[in-house]
Amino acid sequence: MVIFKHTADLRSWLSEDRTRGGKLGFVPTMGALHPGHISLVEEARKVCDLVACSIFVNPTQFNNPSDLEKYPVTIESDIGMLTRAGTDVLFLPGVADIYPGGTSSLPHYDLGFLETVLEGKYRPGHFQGVCQVVHLLLDAVRPDLLFMGQKDYQQCMVIARLIELKQLPVKLVVMPTLREADGLAMSSRNMRLGPADRALAPRIHRVLSGIKERLRPGSLLELQNWGVSELEADGFRVDYVSISDARTLEPLETWDGSRPLVALVAAFLGEVRLIDNLVLTGE
Ligand code: AMP
Repeated sequence: MVIFKHTADLRSWLSEDRTRGGKLGFVPTMGALHPGHISLVEEARKVCDLVACSIFVNPTQFNNPSDLEKYPVTIESDIGMLTRAGTDVLFLPGVADIYPGGTSSLPHYDLGFLETVLEGKYRPGHFQGVCQVVHLLLDAVRPDLLFMGQKDYQQCMVIARLIELKQLPVKLVVMPTLREADGLAMSSRNMRLGPADRALAPRIHRVLSGIKERLRPGSLLELQNWGVSELEADGFRVDYVSISDARTLEPLETWDGSRPLVALVAAFLGEVRLIDNLVLTGE
Protein backbone atom coordinates (compact mmCIF):
# COMPACT_ATOMS: atom_id res chain seq x y z
CA MET A 1 0.00 0.00 0.00
CA VAL A 2 1.31 3.41 -0.97
CA ILE A 3 0.62 6.27 1.46
CA PHE A 4 0.33 9.93 0.47
CA LYS A 5 0.05 12.84 2.84
CA HIS A 6 -0.26 15.59 0.26
CA THR A 7 -2.95 16.05 -2.38
CA ALA A 8 -0.45 17.02 -5.10
CA ASP A 9 1.56 13.79 -4.62
CA LEU A 10 -1.60 11.67 -4.64
CA ARG A 11 -2.82 13.42 -7.80
CA SER A 12 0.43 12.99 -9.61
CA TRP A 13 0.59 9.26 -8.71
CA LEU A 14 -3.03 8.69 -9.76
CA SER A 15 -2.60 10.66 -12.98
CA GLU A 16 -0.52 7.78 -14.39
CA ASP A 17 -3.61 5.69 -15.15
CA ARG A 18 -2.99 3.24 -12.30
CA THR A 19 -6.24 1.39 -13.12
CA ARG A 20 -5.14 0.77 -16.73
CA GLY A 21 -8.53 1.89 -17.96
CA GLY A 22 -10.36 0.03 -15.16
CA LYS A 23 -12.25 1.28 -12.13
CA LEU A 24 -10.97 3.21 -9.15
CA GLY A 25 -12.88 2.62 -5.90
CA PHE A 26 -12.70 5.01 -2.94
CA VAL A 27 -13.51 4.50 0.74
CA PRO A 28 -13.30 7.72 2.78
CA THR A 29 -13.01 7.22 6.56
CA MET A 30 -12.07 9.03 9.73
CA GLY A 31 -9.87 6.15 10.89
CA ALA A 32 -10.11 4.10 14.11
CA LEU A 33 -11.00 1.37 11.66
CA HIS A 34 -13.12 -1.69 12.43
CA PRO A 35 -14.48 -4.56 10.31
CA GLY A 36 -17.38 -2.34 9.12
CA HIS A 37 -14.90 -0.06 7.36
CA ILE A 38 -13.01 -3.06 6.06
CA SER A 39 -16.21 -4.52 4.56
CA LEU A 40 -16.33 -1.42 2.32
CA VAL A 41 -12.70 -1.94 1.28
CA GLU A 42 -13.40 -5.62 0.56
CA GLU A 43 -16.35 -4.76 -1.67
CA ALA A 44 -14.25 -2.14 -3.46
CA ARG A 45 -11.52 -4.77 -3.89
CA LYS A 46 -14.06 -7.12 -5.50
CA VAL A 47 -15.50 -4.69 -8.03
CA CYS A 48 -12.63 -2.27 -8.73
CA ASP A 49 -9.17 -2.47 -10.23
CA LEU A 50 -7.60 -0.04 -7.77
CA VAL A 51 -8.73 0.73 -4.22
CA ALA A 52 -8.05 4.02 -2.47
CA CYS A 53 -8.92 4.86 1.14
CA SER A 54 -8.56 8.05 3.08
CA ILE A 55 -8.23 8.68 6.78
CA PHE A 56 -9.00 12.25 7.75
CA VAL A 57 -10.74 13.39 10.91
CA ASN A 58 -12.59 16.30 9.37
CA PRO A 59 -12.89 19.20 11.82
CA THR A 60 -15.66 20.95 9.86
CA GLN A 61 -18.18 18.16 10.46
CA PHE A 62 -17.88 18.16 14.26
CA ASN A 63 -20.46 20.43 15.81
CA ASN A 64 -19.23 19.40 19.27
CA PRO A 65 -15.54 20.31 19.93
CA SER A 66 -15.10 17.68 22.65
CA ASP A 67 -16.33 14.96 20.24
CA LEU A 68 -13.56 16.03 17.83
CA GLU A 69 -10.94 16.14 20.60
CA LYS A 70 -11.89 12.67 21.82
CA TYR A 71 -12.24 11.07 18.40
CA PRO A 72 -10.13 7.88 18.60
CA VAL A 73 -6.89 7.74 16.59
CA THR A 74 -5.35 4.28 15.91
CA ILE A 75 -3.31 4.95 12.80
CA GLU A 76 -0.84 2.05 13.04
CA SER A 77 -3.54 -0.53 13.46
CA ASP A 78 -5.54 1.19 10.66
CA ILE A 79 -2.60 0.90 8.25
CA GLY A 80 -2.26 -2.81 9.13
CA MET A 81 -5.96 -3.48 8.52
CA LEU A 82 -6.03 -1.59 5.22
CA THR A 83 -2.89 -3.35 3.99
CA ARG A 84 -4.30 -6.78 4.84
CA ALA A 85 -7.58 -5.90 3.10
CA GLY A 86 -5.71 -5.16 -0.13
CA THR A 87 -5.94 -1.36 -0.22
CA ASP A 88 -3.66 0.01 -2.94
CA VAL A 89 -3.38 3.60 -1.83
CA LEU A 90 -4.04 5.44 1.42
CA PHE A 91 -4.52 9.18 1.49
CA LEU A 92 -3.62 10.56 4.92
CA PRO A 93 -3.81 14.32 4.60
CA GLY A 94 -3.48 16.94 7.31
CA VAL A 95 -5.98 19.76 7.85
CA ALA A 96 -3.78 22.25 5.97
CA ASP A 97 -3.74 19.97 2.93
CA ILE A 98 -7.48 19.62 2.73
CA TYR A 99 -8.24 23.23 3.66
CA PRO A 100 -5.22 25.27 2.48
CA GLY A 101 -7.26 28.48 2.69
CA GLY A 102 -8.60 27.70 6.18
CA THR A 103 -12.13 26.64 7.03
CA SER A 104 -13.85 30.00 7.39
CA SER A 105 -15.11 30.50 3.84
CA LEU A 106 -15.93 27.04 2.55
CA PRO A 107 -18.79 26.50 0.09
CA HIS A 108 -22.37 26.00 1.23
CA TYR A 109 -24.38 23.14 -0.22
CA ASP A 110 -28.12 23.30 -0.75
CA LEU A 111 -29.21 20.12 0.97
CA GLY A 112 -32.81 21.23 1.33
CA PHE A 113 -35.13 19.26 3.59
CA LEU A 114 -32.49 16.60 4.34
CA GLU A 115 -30.54 19.05 6.45
CA THR A 116 -33.55 20.02 8.58
CA VAL A 117 -34.33 16.61 10.09
CA LEU A 118 -32.67 13.99 12.33
CA GLU A 119 -28.86 14.39 12.23
CA GLY A 120 -29.30 17.64 10.30
CA LYS A 121 -31.46 19.04 13.07
CA TYR A 122 -29.47 17.71 16.04
CA ARG A 123 -26.02 18.41 14.59
CA PRO A 124 -26.28 21.83 12.93
CA GLY A 125 -23.65 22.30 10.25
CA HIS A 126 -22.60 18.63 10.34
CA PHE A 127 -23.70 17.78 6.81
CA GLN A 128 -22.20 20.97 5.40
CA GLY A 129 -18.89 19.75 6.84
CA VAL A 130 -19.44 16.27 5.40
CA CYS A 131 -20.12 17.72 1.94
CA GLN A 132 -17.15 20.07 2.12
CA VAL A 133 -14.71 17.28 2.88
CA VAL A 134 -16.22 14.63 0.60
CA HIS A 135 -16.33 17.08 -2.31
CA LEU A 136 -12.63 17.93 -1.79
CA LEU A 137 -11.66 14.26 -1.34
CA LEU A 138 -13.57 13.25 -4.48
CA ASP A 139 -11.80 15.99 -6.36
CA ALA A 140 -8.43 14.73 -5.11
CA VAL A 141 -9.07 11.02 -5.76
CA ARG A 142 -11.52 11.18 -8.71
CA PRO A 143 -12.88 7.67 -8.19
CA ASP A 144 -15.39 5.84 -10.36
CA LEU A 145 -17.11 4.27 -7.35
CA LEU A 146 -17.56 5.67 -3.85
CA PHE A 147 -18.26 3.17 -1.05
CA MET A 148 -20.20 4.25 2.04
CA GLY A 149 -22.04 2.49 4.87
CA GLN A 150 -25.77 2.36 5.51
CA LYS A 151 -24.85 2.80 9.19
CA ASP A 152 -24.85 6.50 8.28
CA TYR A 153 -28.14 6.34 6.38
CA GLN A 154 -28.75 10.09 6.19
CA GLN A 155 -25.13 10.74 5.24
CA CYS A 156 -25.54 8.42 2.24
CA MET A 157 -28.57 10.45 1.15
CA VAL A 158 -26.63 13.69 1.62
CA ILE A 159 -23.77 12.40 -0.52
CA ALA A 160 -26.20 11.23 -3.21
CA ARG A 161 -27.53 14.79 -3.19
CA LEU A 162 -24.01 16.25 -3.38
CA ILE A 163 -23.24 14.03 -6.39
CA GLU A 164 -26.43 15.19 -8.08
CA LEU A 165 -25.99 18.87 -7.18
CA LYS A 166 -22.41 19.02 -8.47
CA GLN A 167 -22.96 16.48 -11.25
CA LEU A 168 -19.96 14.51 -10.02
CA PRO A 169 -18.87 11.59 -12.25
CA VAL A 170 -18.95 8.99 -9.46
CA LYS A 171 -21.35 6.21 -8.50
CA LEU A 172 -22.30 5.81 -4.84
CA VAL A 173 -22.35 2.24 -3.53
CA VAL A 174 -24.08 1.82 -0.15
CA MET A 175 -23.03 -1.23 1.88
CA PRO A 176 -24.98 -2.86 4.75
CA THR A 177 -24.20 -2.12 8.39
CA LEU A 178 -21.77 -4.56 10.00
CA ARG A 179 -22.73 -5.44 13.57
CA GLU A 180 -21.11 -7.02 16.59
CA ALA A 181 -22.47 -10.45 17.61
CA ASP A 182 -24.81 -8.74 20.11
CA GLY A 183 -26.30 -6.48 17.41
CA LEU A 184 -24.41 -3.28 18.19
CA ALA A 185 -23.56 -1.47 14.95
CA MET A 186 -19.78 -1.30 14.64
CA SER A 187 -18.56 2.26 15.13
CA SER A 188 -15.28 3.96 15.97
CA ARG A 189 -17.12 5.64 18.84
CA ASN A 190 -17.82 2.26 20.49
CA MET A 191 -14.18 2.32 21.68
CA ARG A 192 -15.12 5.20 23.95
CA LEU A 193 -17.78 3.21 25.82
CA GLY A 194 -16.89 1.92 29.28
CA PRO A 195 -17.82 -1.72 30.08
CA ALA A 196 -21.21 -0.88 31.60
CA ASP A 197 -22.25 1.33 28.66
CA ARG A 198 -20.84 -1.17 26.16
CA ALA A 199 -23.16 -3.77 27.70
CA LEU A 200 -26.16 -1.41 27.26
CA ALA A 201 -25.33 -0.20 23.76
CA PRO A 202 -26.87 -3.19 21.86
CA ARG A 203 -30.28 -2.13 23.21
CA ILE A 204 -30.43 0.40 20.37
CA HIS A 205 -30.52 -2.41 17.83
CA ARG A 206 -32.98 -4.32 19.99
CA VAL A 207 -35.33 -1.32 20.00
CA LEU A 208 -35.00 -0.95 16.21
CA SER A 209 -35.80 -4.65 15.78
CA GLY A 210 -38.71 -4.27 18.24
CA ILE A 211 -40.09 -1.44 16.09
CA LYS A 212 -39.83 -3.64 13.01
CA GLU A 213 -41.68 -6.49 14.73
CA ARG A 214 -44.43 -4.25 16.11
CA LEU A 215 -44.96 -2.21 12.93
CA ARG A 216 -48.59 -2.08 11.73
CA PRO A 217 -50.39 0.34 9.39
CA GLY A 218 -51.95 3.28 11.25
CA SER A 219 -50.44 5.58 13.85
CA LEU A 220 -46.66 5.35 14.34
CA LEU A 221 -46.51 7.65 17.35
CA GLU A 222 -47.03 4.97 20.00
CA LEU A 223 -44.26 2.90 18.45
CA GLN A 224 -41.82 5.81 18.41
CA ASN A 225 -42.73 6.72 21.99
CA TRP A 226 -42.25 3.08 22.97
CA GLY A 227 -38.72 3.21 21.49
CA VAL A 228 -37.87 6.40 23.37
CA SER A 229 -39.16 5.08 26.68
CA GLU A 230 -37.34 1.74 26.32
CA LEU A 231 -34.05 3.55 25.72
CA GLU A 232 -34.64 6.09 28.47
CA ALA A 233 -35.43 3.29 30.90
CA ASP A 234 -32.02 1.82 30.07
CA GLY A 235 -30.28 5.13 30.82
CA PHE A 236 -29.88 6.52 27.30
CA ARG A 237 -30.34 10.23 26.61
CA VAL A 238 -32.33 10.12 23.41
CA ASP A 239 -32.03 12.69 20.62
CA TYR A 240 -34.58 10.90 18.45
CA VAL A 241 -36.30 7.66 17.60
CA SER A 242 -37.89 8.28 14.24
CA ILE A 243 -39.85 6.25 11.75
CA SER A 244 -39.29 8.00 8.45
CA ASP A 245 -39.93 7.62 4.77
CA ALA A 246 -36.95 5.56 3.58
CA ARG A 247 -36.59 7.65 0.41
CA THR A 248 -36.98 11.20 1.77
CA LEU A 249 -36.43 10.79 5.55
CA GLU A 250 -39.66 12.67 6.21
CA PRO A 251 -40.61 11.65 9.77
CA LEU A 252 -44.03 10.00 9.69
CA GLU A 253 -46.84 9.91 12.23
CA THR A 254 -48.99 7.42 10.37
CA TRP A 255 -48.32 4.65 7.89
CA ASP A 256 -50.47 3.51 4.99
CA GLY A 257 -48.90 0.06 4.94
CA SER A 258 -47.08 0.58 1.66
CA ARG A 259 -44.67 3.53 1.95
CA PRO A 260 -41.05 2.32 2.42
CA LEU A 261 -39.90 3.01 5.98
CA VAL A 262 -36.66 3.27 7.92
CA ALA A 263 -36.35 3.60 11.70
CA LEU A 264 -33.48 5.76 12.93
CA VAL A 265 -32.10 6.34 16.40
CA ALA A 266 -29.58 8.75 17.91
CA ALA A 267 -28.93 8.44 21.64
CA PHE A 268 -26.21 9.17 24.15
CA LEU A 269 -24.67 6.82 26.66
CA GLY A 270 -22.74 9.19 28.90
CA GLU A 271 -20.85 11.49 26.52
CA VAL A 272 -20.86 9.05 23.63
CA ARG A 273 -23.47 9.63 20.95
CA LEU A 274 -24.49 6.53 19.02
CA ILE A 275 -26.60 6.31 15.85
CA ASP A 276 -28.16 3.36 14.12
CA ASN A 277 -31.01 2.55 11.76
CA LEU A 278 -33.01 -0.32 10.34
CA VAL A 279 -34.95 -0.48 7.10
CA LEU A 280 -38.43 -1.66 8.11
CA THR A 281 -40.01 -2.58 4.79
CA GLY A 282 -38.83 -4.31 1.63
CA GLU A 283 -35.27 -3.63 0.56
P1 AMP B 1 -16.39 6.95 9.51
O1 AMP B 1 -14.95 6.60 9.67
O2 AMP B 1 -17.21 6.72 10.74
O3 AMP B 1 -16.58 8.30 8.87
O4 AMP B 1 -16.98 5.90 8.48
C1 AMP B 1 -16.42 5.73 7.20
C2 AMP B 1 -17.35 4.91 6.35
O5 AMP B 1 -17.55 3.64 6.95
C3 AMP B 1 -18.74 5.56 6.24
O6 AMP B 1 -19.22 5.40 4.92
C4 AMP B 1 -19.55 4.75 7.22
O7 AMP B 1 -20.93 4.72 6.92
C5 AMP B 1 -18.92 3.38 7.07
N1 AMP B 1 -19.21 2.58 8.26
C6 AMP B 1 -19.06 2.96 9.55
N2 AMP B 1 -19.48 1.99 10.38
C7 AMP B 1 -19.92 0.97 9.59
C8 AMP B 1 -20.49 -0.32 9.85
N3 AMP B 1 -20.70 -0.75 11.08
N4 AMP B 1 -20.81 -1.10 8.79
C9 AMP B 1 -20.61 -0.65 7.51
N5 AMP B 1 -20.07 0.54 7.21
C10 AMP B 1 -19.74 1.35 8.23
